[in-house]
Amino acid sequence: MAGRAGENGIIVKVKAPSKRAAKSGQRHGEQRQPRPHDLIRTAVKRPKTAAERKARIAGILRRLNEMYPNATCALVHRNPWELLVATILSAQCTDKRVNLVTPGLFAKYPTPRDFAAVKPEVLAEDIRSTGFFNNKAKSIVGAAKKVVGDFGGKVPRTIEEMLAIPGAARKTANVVLGTAYGIASGVVVDTHVQRISARLDLTKETDPVTIERDLMKIIPRDRWILFSHQLILHGRALCVARGPKCGECGLNSLCYAKDKTA
Ligand code: SF4
Repeated sequence: MAGRAGENGIIVKVKAPSKRAAKSGQRHGEQRQPRPHDLIRTAVKRPKTAAERKARIAGILRRLNEMYPNATCALVHRNPWELLVATILSAQCTDKRVNLVTPGLFAKYPTPRDFAAVKPEVLAEDIRSTGFFNNKAKSIVGAAKKVVGDFGGKVPRTIEEMLAIPGAARKTANVVLGTAYGIASGVVVDTHVQRISARLDLTKETDPVTIERDLMKIIPRDRWILFSHQLILHGRALCVARGPKCGECGLNSLCYAKDKTA
């Protein structure tokens, strides 16, 4: 409560506006005017029952298939080892840049044994343009030593073995197993999958491992690999971080994201 001089100079108690109302310029007792994106969002019906949620997810998957029928990994590779190296290089770097670096890299070091034999500081110079090159070089040489020493020079085919490889966390392991071997070990959660899963209300979580757990529960296993690729493409094409192109998005009528633009 705050004091204010009323008629005849009598101090009257008035209720201070809430911080939120003050921020929006709303006066006490006044109805807040809906903002344009509130109207956009409320036009989309939220699922209330388990059956409605299931039907909505089926709709999302169907539309993703229509929008991105041939989605696949953009990292150029000829075998699982090359994909593992390319995926490690792609951290904090565009796939385009990685694809510029890897042809020369794999010509210079054709096998995991060649990578295992090189000093990280030498490899770092070869991959400098991908950023974070010292750490990436250490990871790649460590991964090569593990693959050569423990897995006979072949990238393993289980998530547990993949996670034992230096530089391979769940995202990398899922990319390699899914794309190179067609093994659905999980859902790839990168920055695009993270953002779009939140916008589509597929998870309330913010940590990639728990987001993945949520997605694995609601997305059928036989869609895990394709779904990851489709969301990554969607994040690059339309559902970009700032100013998503909702007017062009096939998921628009199923999406009630806070920052929808159309
Ligand atoms: S582009 Fe817009 S409508 Fe489409 S999923 Fe992203 S936020 Fe939703």
